[in-house]
Amino acid sequence: MSKFLGYPGLFSCKYCTNKMDLIGKIPQLNKKHVHINNPDKFNKILQQLIEDGPSKLQVLSDFGKTITKQHHKGKPHLNGYGIIKNCPSLTDELGKTLDGLYKKYYPMEMDLHIPLKEKYQLMEEWWDLNENAFKGLIVSPKELEVVCKQLGPTLREGMNIAFDMLYKEEVPVLVFSAGLGDIVKLVLNQKEVLLPNIKIVSNFLKFNSEGVIEGFTAPPIHIYNKNEYIIENAEFYNCIIDKTNVILLGDSIGDAKMAEGIPHVKNVLKIGFLYERKEEALPNYLDAYDVVLEDDQTMEVFISLLKCIFKKK
Ligand SMILES: [Mg+2]
Repeated sequence: MSKFLGYPGLFSCKYCTNKMDLIGKIPQLNKKHVHINNPDKFNKILQQLIEDGPSKLQVLSDFGKTITKQHHKGKPHLNGYGIIKNCPSLTDELGKTLDGLYKKYYPMEMDLHIPLKEKYQLMEEWWDLNENAFKGLIVSPKELEVVCKQLGPTLREGMNIAFDMLYKEEVPVLVFSAGLGDIVKLVLNQKEVLLPNIKIVSNFLKFNSEGVIEGFTAPPIHIYNKNEYIIENAEFYNCIIDKTNVILLGDSIGDAKMAEGIPHVKNVLKIGFLYERKEEALPNYLDAYDVVLEDDQTMEVFISLLKCIFKKK
């Protein structure tokens, strides 16, 4: 059993009915690295999620640095593009182009001073240029599988437990990635957590009948349009139509908006993972998220909330 689950007697449901004192009774929320900007609001939302139970719940989660760790012992993981460029049959040219684009656009994605509208355009520009870099190349599914196994990121500690709990309670989980869907799918599959209640919304490679990459599947998913996709896509809309409550997980400011505009959603509890430029970014994260976890590479807090909502010890 993971160390962080070892709190005997913690999940007796006594505290689940005490209206405004939920935070104080959940030890995982009372650690130094856990920041809650508005405890009253947090308590109120959590109370509602507990009252409504699992049947009203859906989870919206970013993938990179949210489901996966932000770093492993101080070393960052490769993202999907960083992994795929290691396929032997792909050209060095692809690697150089993707690296160059990442160096240029990632700081803009994380920049707290660029207005959202401008960021939206920049992210679409990045998406287009990434897509162009892949066009005309050939890579086999087997090759992707091998590089993913060798270089794929590790999941946050406890992620498999959280996924298992969500599956057992039949809670739909939408995993959003502005990166490469093919890699997201392979990582989840290889870690044995790609369960039937999980849907991946991302940019998947589109191949022609000769196995040549033609581009990405449309529409583009980037960090600032994730919410639009849910609203417009009937398949996803149907599986969340009666889910009024959301737990949202993300690691960038843009992720915090994933649930915006989804009809029928009444209560959203947002968990934000903060690692890079912590001091500078903390105030913005506190505005965007209900709880901010500073350099926490586990799912400890998420699991503790799920246990309350599922009324599990
Ligand atoms: Mg991310």
